[in-house]
Amino acid sequence: MYPHLLSPITLGSVTLPNRVIMGSMHTGLEEAGDWGRVARFYGERAKGGVGLMVTGGMAPNLEGGVFPGAAGVFSGSDVANHRVVTDHVHGEGGRIAMQILHAGRYAYGRGCVSASAVKSPISPFVPVALDEAGIEKQISDIVTAAVRAQEAGYDGVEVMGSEGYFLNQFLVRHVNRREDRWGGSYENRMRLPVEVVRRVRAAVGADFIVIYRISLIDLVPDGSSWDEVATLARAVEAAGASVLNSGIGWHEARVPTIATSVPRAAFAWLTARLRGEVGIPVIASNRINTPEVAEGILAGGQADMVSMARPFLADAGFVRKAREGRAAEIAPCIACNQACLDHTFSGRMTSCLVNPAACHEAEFDAVSVIRKRVAVVGAGPAGLACAVKAAELGHTVVLFEKGAIGGQLNLARKVPGKEEFDALVAWYGVMLARVEVRMVEATVADLAGFDEVVIATGVLPRPVATPGVERALSYVDVLNSAPVGRRVAVIGAGGIGFDVAEFLTQAGPSAALDVAAWRREWGVGDPLDVAGGLVTAQAVPAAREVWLLQRKAEKPGRGLGKTTGWIHRAALQARGVKMWGGVSYERITDAGLVIVRDGVSALLAVDTVVLCAGQVPERSLADALGGRCHVIGGADVAAELDAKRAIDQGTRLALTF
Ligand code: NAP
Ligand code: SF4
Repeated sequence: MYPHLLSPITLGSVTLPNRVIMGSMHTGLEEAGDWGRVARFYGERAKGGVGLMVTGGMAPNLEGGVFPGAAGVFSGSDVANHRVVTDHVHGEGGRIAMQILHAGRYAYGRGCVSASAVKSPISPFVPVALDEAGIEKQISDIVTAAVRAQEAGYDGVEVMGSEGYFLNQFLVRHVNRREDRWGGSYENRMRLPVEVVRRVRAAVGADFIVIYRISLIDLVPDGSSWDEVATLARAVEAAGASVLNSGIGWHEARVPTIATSVPRAAFAWLTARLRGEVGIPVIASNRINTPEVAEGILAGGQADMVSMARPFLADAGFVRKAREGRAAEIAPCIACNQACLDHTFSGRMTSCLVNPAACHEAEFDAVSVIRKRVAVVGAGPAGLACAVKAAELGHTVVLFEKGAIGGQLNLARKVPGKEEFDALVAWYGVMLARVEVRMVEATVADLAGFDEVVIATGVLPRPVATPGVERALSYVDVLNSAPVGRRVAVIGAGGIGFDVAEFLTQAGPSAALDVAAWRREWGVGDPLDVAGGLVTAQAVPAAREVWLLQRKAEKPGRGLGKTTGWIHRAALQARGVKMWGGVSYERITDAGLVIVRDGVSALLAVDTVVLCAGQVPERSLADALGGRCHVIGGADVAAELDAKRAIDQGTRLALTF
């Protein structure tokens, strides 16, 4: 089973038991300063069998930190803190490398530095152009960070050279406007990363693992050409790198690179090409989330190792389960970003939608359990999470469901670009093995005799009072394939309104399942042909003409995920969807929807009106039980209905029984 994935590989003097790297993730744990908690997080993953882990990015100095207060290795006390982590990981039989991340002009602060004083479009700060002494200081600080990592017991370092960070900024002319020995010709522009690797290697000796993360496709205008990428790769190899990791896209790129609508293994073709350029091992990354996909990349000769990051939030035991023939039990990362990157970018501790224990391990430790009989009503995310956790803790659990296992997840999985939800529903199906499932509508009588009763009956679409509303369809009907005309008005532009607009405009198969189609749609070319790899996107003609409407006088989509909202807006824009705020609804007639916009009443001549106006809790059973139950998920709070809160609430409740 997974013979390539589970075969050993030697990097430096270290032989790793398998080809899996847990890629660097910024979790916020290090900044919180509880190093026991950091150690627990990595220790759980080491126990889960991953070959090598890479920490979140550690700043080599204050000017290089991604934000003020970003963690780093600035002093001896930092070294002692990191030692807590490495000792714990090694005690669990794991290996860990520290990522050195200098953010350059992406550092959030006035003192940020770069090759030239060229501001990034995603930062308000103009960086200071470094002089010769300033460049020397940065190199020296990065080398010192590597030495401190070694003192702290790490097995290696990853030098972050991609994603548009400091070293990457020197490589491309649109940031590097210098005319000294650090700018101009490519030989000069790549001098900084090569010098960094050379001096890191000289400082840490021959045996320490040095990973260099190289940008294979910048996805920004005037980025690196393939010839430049290959030249850099060979130079970094000669300078002493042990292994090259794949970096995809700058942070300012307007192309999604890890979101759920990006096809699995969408960029492995670039790593395969890199493999032909160098003699050291290469690592594939981005949208690899199952052992099958990872094994396929290795078996196909596209890479020597695979890096997965978020899948280790979803399931710390990923590798162990794959090895034990229990791959179906691996909780899937659905690439939603909802609890990981969206949290990171809003200053909150990282977690995971499918595994709320990620980065919160101690909060989910089971205390001694008195075995109980537990009834859970409703097999949506809240009910499933509660039932599965309660059964895992040894309770006897009966789950009642009148429809289908999955609840609202079954609607999400119908949306093009959200196919990963299939894996989540399938996973719950596997995890229900220890639960008695009764596919019936539960009554009060059915629930007698249980020690704990959990109501997770979900939501109902919010009723809308607009005259003529009986002519409209609900999003539930539409996603369940009710016939819809060619011109459609969608009332409500929340997450579900956007999903429905995407569903209705989709013509042909989902691009999320077809790398070539997806690349055309987003304008992802080949850096062999165009430096940076950006080409003109080819929009697929929309299947319908859609108006996505809301009453709030603001840009629709503001409440979408912090790191994914722009992707949904851009996708709908490419399909010509009209997204209008500040609209009020007068009536629905056979001729369409009468709205008032900018004070003017007008008929929107559409064939179908779809209601995506939010939800209300379905609490009839809870009311009938008169408080003798726990109410969770959408049945508890519909306004914040989302799978992340539902799963967290269901899991935490099970721990209290
Ligand atoms: P929602 O986000 O609350 O949006 C409801 C929409 O309906 C709003 O645009 C609201 O805008 C409108 N509305 C509310 N009451 C109305 C009324 N009486 N008449 C007409 N319009 C009304 O709800 P949702 O779209 O159903 O999504 C529910 C939850 O699912 C979200 O909170 C989200 O967590 C989750 N979800 C997330 C995603 C995602 O992409 N992350 C995708 C799907 C679902 P106005 O009041 O301005 O008209
Ligand atoms: Fe994956 Fe979503 Fe969990 Fe992040 S929150 S690790 S994207 S499942």
